[in-house]
Amino acid sequence: MKKFVFIYTYGCQMNVHDSEKMLGTLAQEGYTAATVPEKADLIIFNTCAIREKAEHKFYSQLGRIKHLKKSNPLLKIAVAGCVAQDSRQKVMKRAPHVDFVLGPQNLHVVGNLQTSKRNLYVDENPDIAYQEYAMHRESATRAWVSIMYGCNNFCSYCIVPYTRGREVSRPSSSIVAEIKGLKERGYREVTLLGQNVNSYRSDIDFVGLLRQIDRIGLERVRFVTSHPRDLSTALIDALVELPTLCNNLHLPLQSGADAILQAMNRKYTYAEYCEKIGLIRGKIPSVTLSTDIIIGFPGESESDFEQTVKAIKEIEFDGMFAFKYSKRKGTRACEMADQVPESVKAERLNRLLMIQEDIVLKRNRALVGSVQEILIEGASETDPSMLMGRTRSNKIVTLDHNGAPEGAVLNVIIEKARHHSLHGKELS
Ligand code: SF4
Repeated sequence: MKKFVFIYTYGCQMNVHDSEKMLGTLAQEGYTAATVPEKADLIIFNTCAIREKAEHKFYSQLGRIKHLKKSNPLLKIAVAGCVAQDSRQKVMKRAPHVDFVLGPQNLHVVGNLQTSKRNLYVDENPDIAYQEYAMHRESATRAWVSIMYGCNNFCSYCIVPYTRGREVSRPSSSIVAEIKGLKERGYREVTLLGQNVNSYRSDIDFVGLLRQIDRIGLERVRFVTSHPRDLSTALIDALVELPTLCNNLHLPLQSGADAILQAMNRKYTYAEYCEKIGLIRGKIPSVTLSTDIIIGFPGESESDFEQTVKAIKEIEFDGMFAFKYSKRKGTRACEMADQVPESVKAERLNRLLMIQEDIVLKRNRALVGSVQEILIEGASETDPSMLMGRTRSNKIVTLDHNGAPEGAVLNVIIEKARHHSLHGKELS
């Protein structure tokens, strides 16, 4: 008999990819993805603990599906991801309808859940770097590839080192074999995933790994996330030299104020960050940069915030993900005095977003008239009469639908700049 699974995925790319791993593993056990939770024999919540909001969203959704067990007594419910690891007892106590809790290092057990009793799978898994997964990938042309797990940095606001454990890197041979397999199946782009890819280290370092991957000859290679402290000159040189690497870098700044960076335990100053940005832009003038900013970290004064505003204006990022600081129990920042009131955080966040909107529009306008190579991702979600693709620098571009399939690479002349995308025409 056919079995169905429904997965709710919250949070970062790491979680999106973990859901692909769970779906792939379950497909080997005869499961198919259900379109709605009502049709599932197994419901999995792949949770995120980075911010309080994502956690609340999960708990309220978990409450909303409770009644499904009445109509289907054989239904099993599992909670995976960072909340599962961090709040395992709380989840089991608060939601007796949950059957299983599995932390990010224990995804491989997902295939055996249906036969198991109510249980917690949250032990450290020293073999996680050697675990091979069947994957059920969302896209047929662009793939996520995990290269390492965990983080050693202990930024004072972040829960990840407690939920995903210490850094461990996958062997390069296994990563290279996975990417070769993807190329053979027609994939055009991979994004290498890790909390801090710059500190990848197995038999080779990250730059060595990039060189090996470049030789496979995919159309495009990207990676997230880089820690500014670990961004080396050798990596910048690799971005210049290796043709498959895209001219785009996500480099979380978090704050423009040195006192706040220190309290965050980020281990770089704003001047050091700028030095690296200068080096990258000097060597790759077409590079696009995106960043993360935390607003209202404990102790952030108006003048600290003004330094972040100044940094955003000086650097002119192409993209910014800014969030209000969210207290995470168990982290050092959670215990810090001088927590910033919510209303102040909200006002500062709005101010920063408005400034950044103008910067993005200005940077997008500078591309009008240029020719960009676009990798087509499919019909535009907002207007199906349009195609949507991305430049090598990760800008979204729309163009009139000309029948080009997902994965096609087109040269497009940019005609219009918007706040969040560009519009262009294919060059004949
Ligand atoms: S580098 Fe810092 S912010 Fe990123 S995952 Fe590690 S501890 Fe968290």
